[in-house]
Amino acid sequence: MQDQGKWFVGMQINPVSLADEGVDVVLDAAQEKAAATAAVVTVHTFNPELMERPAEYSGHGVRGPHGNSGGTFVTTHDEYYRGLPVSGFRASGSLFDGLDVLDAVGPGARSRGLDLYGYMLETTSTGGTQTHVPGFSRLLEIDPWGRVGQLPCVNNPDYRLWKRSLLTDFYATHDFDGFAWGVERWGPLHRALMGESVGCFCPYCKEVAAADGIDLDRTATAYRAVLETMWGQVDSSTERDGFALRMIDGLLQYPEVLAWERSWTRAYLGLHREMYGLAKWLAPDRPFGLGLWHYYFIDPLLRTEWNAWDWTRSADFLRPILYHLAEGHRIQDFATKLSQGPLTGATPEEACSWLMRMVGLDLDVKFPAMGDGLPADYVRTGVEIVRNSLAGDLPVYAAIGVDIREKGCPATTPEDVEAAVEAAVDGGAAGITASRNYAEMTMPNLEAVGTAVRRLRGAGA
Ligand SMILES: [Zn+2]
Repeated sequence: MQDQGKWFVGMQINPVSLADEGVDVVLDAAQEKAAATAAVVTVHTFNPELMERPAEYSGHGVRGPHGNSGGTFVTTHDEYYRGLPVSGFRASGSLFDGLDVLDAVGPGARSRGLDLYGYMLETTSTGGTQTHVPGFSRLLEIDPWGRVGQLPCVNNPDYRLWKRSLLTDFYATHDFDGFAWGVERWGPLHRALMGESVGCFCPYCKEVAAADGIDLDRTATAYRAVLETMWGQVDSSTERDGFALRMIDGLLQYPEVLAWERSWTRAYLGLHREMYGLAKWLAPDRPFGLGLWHYYFIDPLLRTEWNAWDWTRSADFLRPILYHLAEGHRIQDFATKLSQGPLTGATPEEACSWLMRMVGLDLDVKFPAMGDGLPADYVRTGVEIVRNSLAGDLPVYAAIGVDIREKGCPATTPEDVEAAVEAAVDGGAAGITASRNYAEMTMPNLEAVGTAVRRLRGAGA
């Protein structure tokens, strides 16, 4: 178990690194170079950033993506999934055959005094698909036109039971010290504002909506109208009013849209509460924490909907994503999309400025220069936002970005890494996780984590 006085330094590790480099190499690098106190290992995912190698070589491991579609990276047991349309779904292929990441890392972690955490990200839209998983199509959303959607429905009881079954299987059959659950999904209104198709309008959602007094057919009608306008199927140029006014008019005509957004979000956030309660039932002494999506810090709607105060009752720690170099272009992309939809008439610069005022982010860098990365002080600000929102004392482990390999993100230097660690300490974080994953990180930047941690927290950190 974790020493409560120890500053948490989690190293996020994709299963592929264990296969490519071996457990001892990865754990030695995590502990000796990055001063890690915990190995945070992905146990189940379909999202590339949690299981892949980077396209650009990081200087260690094997070059280039492996292309595996993912699944579960520990041994699963069919008896936990009886009656469900989806099994534990072990990741297959020669790379992962026989690799149980928790069993593989456990002895090495224990002998080094490292804690071992499992990590699972609730299904998101960051690139992973589950087309190869038998039964998964039965879990998918239905869009406003009656088409099957891209993501699983959070109101589908089989989907929720599947997630519970996965967690139960992991806890009952494996030895580890803690678990992290990633919360990275937003509701139908957000998706519409971004010009994406929305969900969900399946029979399960209709039941949930009806219980809340919401007519989901009317909600679907409203979304069809909004999205057809945004997608240009209805010529908005002939309309007298701008898009923002049409949106407001739509919300007044169809208040169900707001009611359904609230209902959907309650169901979604209820999922991690279920998981927390289950984890506490399974192993009350093992910390169970939540990964907090980066949009929480830049999206006024999400900040409003996600009640951080409530998390003190459904998490033992929080891991907010505060990748300061990546966040600059992410903010700009978000503002640009809004300026092409609900904020039509505003320039991307104006939309960005409005967003930052709404969420109370007073950044030294403005659009478009923020595309080169935000100052590391963003990490401190983010930690403080979370800490100030909580109803009690909950450890905050700032997820700092070390070599985030995504389009638009500038290269990370050791100075950037050290500044991020320092900002996390300044903000009052109880620790950090080095993110997104070891496979992406260069050795000099990995060492910079350790240099900063030892300088700021002492040799025994
Ligand atoms: Zn549904």
